[in-house]
Amino acid sequence: MTKRIAILGAGPSGLAQLRAFQSAKEKGEDIPEIVCFEKQDDWGGLWNYTWRTGVDQYGEPVHGSMYRYLWSNGPKEGLEFADYSFEEHFGKQIASYPPRAVLMDYIEGRVKKAGVRDWIRFETAVRRVEKNDNGKFNVTVCNLPKDDEYTEEFDHVICATGHFSTPNVPQFDGFDKFKGRILHAHDFRDALEFKDQDLLIIGTSYSAEDIGSQCWKYGAKSITVSHRTAPMGFKWPDNWQEVPLLTHVDGNTAYFKDGTSKDVDAILLCTGYQHHFPFMADNLRLRTANRLATSDLYKGVAWVHDPDLFYLGMQDQWFTFNMFDAQAWWVRDAIMGKIKIPGKSEMEADVADRIAREDAGEDDYQAIQYQADYIKELIAETDYPSFNVDGACEAFFEWKKHKKEDIMTFRNNSYTSVITNTKAPKHHTPWKDALDDSLEVYLQN
Ligand SMILES: Cc1cc2nc3c(=O)[nH]c(=O)nc-3n(C[C@H](O)[C@H](O)[C@H](O)COP(=O)(O)OP(=O)(O)OC[C@H]3O[C@@H](n4cnc5c(N)ncnc54)[C@H](O)[C@@H]3O)c2cc1C
Repeated sequence: MTKRIAILGAGPSGLAQLRAFQSAKEKGEDIPEIVCFEKQDDWGGLWNYTWRTGVDQYGEPVHGSMYRYLWSNGPKEGLEFADYSFEEHFGKQIASYPPRAVLMDYIEGRVKKAGVRDWIRFETAVRRVEKNDNGKFNVTVCNLPKDDEYTEEFDHVICATGHFSTPNVPQFDGFDKFKGRILHAHDFRDALEFKDQDLLIIGTSYSAEDIGSQCWKYGAKSITVSHRTAPMGFKWPDNWQEVPLLTHVDGNTAYFKDGTSKDVDAILLCTGYQHHFPFMADNLRLRTANRLATSDLYKGVAWVHDPDLFYLGMQDQWFTFNMFDAQAWWVRDAIMGKIKIPGKSEMEADVADRIAREDAGEDDYQAIQYQADYIKELIAETDYPSFNVDGACEAFFEWKKHKKEDIMTFRNNSYTSVITNTKAPKHHTPWKDALDDSLEVYLQN
């Protein structure tokens, strides 16, 4: 009997999995039956922008955390698909830090070409995944427009529902009486909302750095970033300051641990996200910190307690699309019996080793190299087109250097593709002056 595989989510990770199976089919191999469940009405995951916040039209939590004017926060040369280059998609080499719509177009291009859309059941939310008496998975989903819940049986489940959607929301004294807007980064949509305002940002994540930069670019009066342990330490513009942790808010005045204070109009919580899988039965649910070596995943993907279940893209991410590909090809081959999964103690030793090696790393450069080595390890075991992963690391190292030089100009730099060996052109407009982030304007020569 043909195996049945459920893929949960059609974001970049789920789409990588669809493409992995389709590429085997293209080579004449017999592949299992694939069903992908996606709760949104289109693919692309976080890259499928929505203006909605809170809940959607069906009362489902809104998945999207992306905002208008978002440009890639790392060079595209670090994420390029090895089987589908930017040049193949756009017919020319393009600048290195594309806005969201441009990356969405690129992600879509590959899966449109692969013809896998029919494998996806859109507007279908996964409600429950559990083991049944046959040793298989019962996957219960809801067809949202019809409000119709049903259960199907699968041999394998691949969970690719992402982990940057369920916010971590801290509480500070005085928030309940604050007279402005308090929101988590998950609900941030448009920097123009904060034009001419004094903005307080809590946290030092990518979101803090990037949302602060957007708001600065679109005319916020001042940006104050409060950190728990250490400042981000970039050379910020004059109207930007970094301060220690917020202690409390009184009226519209924010007080910090060093005794200083600042009157602010709005507070943005860039305080991270939770790995949250409420639909997974307790014994199948991944519980992990956001780190490079996740808990309980052999090779970063196979659930050590039941390796018929896989999780994709659950690591903290330097590399993204190409890492999801490496994982998806590996998972495909494990399911198709080309890769043998060892016994539980060997899988647990693998997890412990990955955690120890990550912990031994001393800085971001070693962390980038660590994730690059992980990608190399996985692709060596499959037929994913091999590419110069160390070269992609070099793009990240350059990127870090450029950010240190000037956080508001790093996106004006360009890098060399490790897939086509061509250098990206310089973008026609410096990032800080490029207020129109549409695909058409970005692609103008
Ligand atoms: C604000 C922000 C900016 C980012 N910027 C960059 C960047 O510049 N460059 C970069 O490379 N990466 C960036 N990332 C990282 C991002 O995680 C990856 O690029 C990528 O989107 C991860 O893909 P994914 O498929 O694992 O998860 P997601 O993109 O989150 O997709 C998961 C999918 O699962 C679906 N889903 C969730 N729950 C259910 C359910 N119960 N039932 C059915 N479907 C469900 C969702 O609707 C979604 O389509 C950014 C992330 C954020 C939050």
